[in-house]
Amino acid sequence: MKKLRWLTLTSFAMLAAMAFLATRTEAQPGQVKLIVPGVWFLEGDLANLGHSNNIIIEMKDYVIVVDANFPSGAKLAMETAQRISSKPVKYVFDTHHHGDHAYGNPIWTKAGATTLAYVGVAEEMKRFEPARWQATAKERPDVAELHLDAPEPPQQTFDKSPFILKDSTREVRFYFLGWAHTRGDGFVYLPKDKLLCTGDAVVNGPYNFTADANVANWPRVVRAAQALGAVHVLPGHGPAGGPEILEGQAKFMTELHKAVDTAINQKKKFEDVVPPGTTTVYGNVVPVKTSITLPGSVKNWAGAFLPAQVRDTWEEIAQKKPHGDLPH
Ligand SMILES: [Zn+2]
Repeated sequence: MKKLRWLTLTSFAMLAAMAFLATRTEAQPGQVKLIVPGVWFLEGDLANLGHSNNIIIEMKDYVIVVDANFPSGAKLAMETAQRISSKPVKYVFDTHHHGDHAYGNPIWTKAGATTLAYVGVAEEMKRFEPARWQATAKERPDVAELHLDAPEPPQQTFDKSPFILKDSTREVRFYFLGWAHTRGDGFVYLPKDKLLCTGDAVVNGPYNFTADANVANWPRVVRAAQALGAVHVLPGHGPAGGPEILEGQAKFMTELHKAVDTAINQKKKFEDVVPPGTTTVYGNVVPVKTSITLPGSVKNWAGAFLPAQVRDTWEEIAQKKPHGDLPH
């Protein structure tokens, strides 16, 4: 009896804690959240599983999933979609070619879905693969157990932006707005709900990965996305939010570029700005430190990747080419 009461009290305490958490805008990996009727946001567990976020969009007769995720994330998103909707997943949109957004493609196509992307995603795969897939298979059992030599490219691509899927209940627009995070960055916009899915062109937290990026152009792409007028913003990593995520992301990229450009103009040495030494962040080997600091207004975006972001931006400015065009 005593034990039972203790359990009951504990359960109440847990429920109270969960209710409290549910009202916060902090990270809630693994939790599914209804954003507007028929659209759910599943925040991926980046820290432990390397997963991206997924968005589930219900149409009249089928479901669209934004991002294929890694294979293990694809399985979680598929289970979630099946739990919340009786309709089949017809399309899975790869926002870009990175493994945590596209390596789950075979999981979805085996289940009967069509993988869809802007044509730039398939081109990025040709550029960087199968080297990255093979390196990732050595690190991740979920990739290794597919026993494939290369990632599966999106089955359907479009080159005219926006590509539109529409039925009597909803219109979904797929945009390419320029090269930011990768050459293939796709956005998904639901005009009726003013809801925008951004992939990694916009993240909510210190998750910006700049290796394949065009840092100088990045803010222009986010500004173009802002012009769509979204009220709900669902990023590639980090919690869902509103237009403030777009503003912060654009500002972060602008401030990063400005700070590095200033250091170069002041004839600072790279080794003084990014001292030697590396660490691992989400499986990426990155420099440990940088002397560059950014304004407090963008602190949500500045974290363990900052030294790598400074290095990539430095190389981009010094070599006068988008970082993604440099050998890496
Ligand atoms: Zn990415």
